[in-house]
Amino acid sequence: MKIVIVGGGIIGTATAARLGRSDHDVTLIERGEIGTETTAASAGMVMRAAVEPTPFDVRLRNRAWEAYQRLFEESALEAERIGTLYLAETPAYAERLERSAATLAEHGVDATFRAPDELAEYGIDPTEFDGATAFDDGRDPGRFVGGLHTTADLRCNPAAVSSWFADCARDSGVDVRTGVEVTAIRTRNGAVRAVETHTGRIEADTVINAAGPWAPQLNNTVGVSLPLAHTVGPMAELESRAAASHHADDRTNSTSAATPFTILESKRYVRPGAANGSKAPRRAVVGEFNTGYTEGTVLELDERDLPGSFRSDAPSVASLVSGFDNATITEEWVGYRTVTPDGRPIVGETDVSGFVVACGLTGLGITLAPAVADLVADAVAGGLDSEHRERVGPERF
Ligand SMILES: Cc1cc2nc3c(=O)[nH]c(=O)nc-3n(C[C@H](O)[C@H](O)[C@H](O)COP(=O)(O)OP(=O)(O)OC[C@H]3O[C@@H](n4cnc5c(N)ncnc54)[C@H](O)[C@@H]3O)c2cc1C
Repeated sequence: MKIVIVGGGIIGTATAARLGRSDHDVTLIERGEIGTETTAASAGMVMRAAVEPTPFDVRLRNRAWEAYQRLFEESALEAERIGTLYLAETPAYAERLERSAATLAEHGVDATFRAPDELAEYGIDPTEFDGATAFDDGRDPGRFVGGLHTTADLRCNPAAVSSWFADCARDSGVDVRTGVEVTAIRTRNGAVRAVETHTGRIEADTVINAAGPWAPQLNNTVGVSLPLAHTVGPMAELESRAAASHHADDRTNSTSAATPFTILESKRYVRPGAANGSKAPRRAVVGEFNTGYTEGTVLELDERDLPGSFRSDAPSVASLVSGFDNATITEEWVGYRTVTPDGRPIVGETDVSGFVVACGLTGLGITLAPAVADLVADAVAGGLDSEHRERVGPERF
């Protein structure tokens, strides 16, 4: 079978590495460089933590997690186990976190609910925080009433992981082409026949749409309509000014645990370490976890400026990390999440025979990439099983 994968982000490259192990003739087409779009824009977390996951969601993450465990053991790629802490600003959310801890623990994830007085363990003062955005109803939270902590979540460099997948794909015979744009997909009698690129035509029986936020455009070219929407993901890397004083060193040497990846109920988050996922004790990344689906929100993807309020709040959010009381922004960028109505990706063959999608990864594309690659391989090999069709297949909409 001749397979063309469109998109060289973490989803396209993980898929290419997976399909490279098959007998198919596989080509991956990336119009820019490998892993430099949404994948590089991300916080680089491989997440085990989740709020009210279903057993299916935990199993899907566990499947990806096991693949990552092997990858980080066997390759020279670096990943650090920093864990995740969700923080509740309302009692109702604290209850949800407590339930989530129980569900995760039932499925083998090291997850615990932490009462407010236990948050000091992560250097967090539950009674004083002025960096939270107001909730939609105007309430200003500003204090923490509990947390969900998982220990195993990893911080990695997702662009490097993507390049590693691309190298594995090349080693197994996949033709990886960068700087080449797919401009059209040709079909005949409702089945894929070829892709057109600006450097020529490539015959194909199967085309895999792994174009990230550009997936809706590619779907449109073959008349496939799926409920995909965009959300804006502003990000900033900050440097602690305390780097020049003894303060940060004092905190670094204190008995409190290093700050995990910390996600507020009011959606902002902070992840210790540099933008590229390296340890860098004086750096932290602040972002906004916006994964809500609004029908029809398909953006131009050209807005790269941070909203002003995000920029001004970022230092307060960063102050959740020990030693980051006076941090300044060193770098800022915007990424786009591609979200779906039920928060799950869309993976599988569409109504157009041979046109397979692997898109709508919401805020979890790094976390789920190896599992999505497996599902694409299943789709190519004859189709997903009924559970996966129901949970992630395009036919569920
Ligand atoms: C701010 C932010 C933070 C995030 N943090 C996390 C996190 O910590 N953990 C996590 O699990 N997930 C996170 N995510 C989500 C994750 O980054 C994405 O789900 C994931 O990167 C999507 O990968 P992708 O390969 O689908 O898309 P991309 O990385 O965008 O790759 C798609 C590629 O397709 C190429 N392309 C598009 N159209 C064409 C065409 N016509 N021809 C050729 N090439 C084409 C593009 O150039 C691009 O390189 C975050 C997302 C954002 C925005």
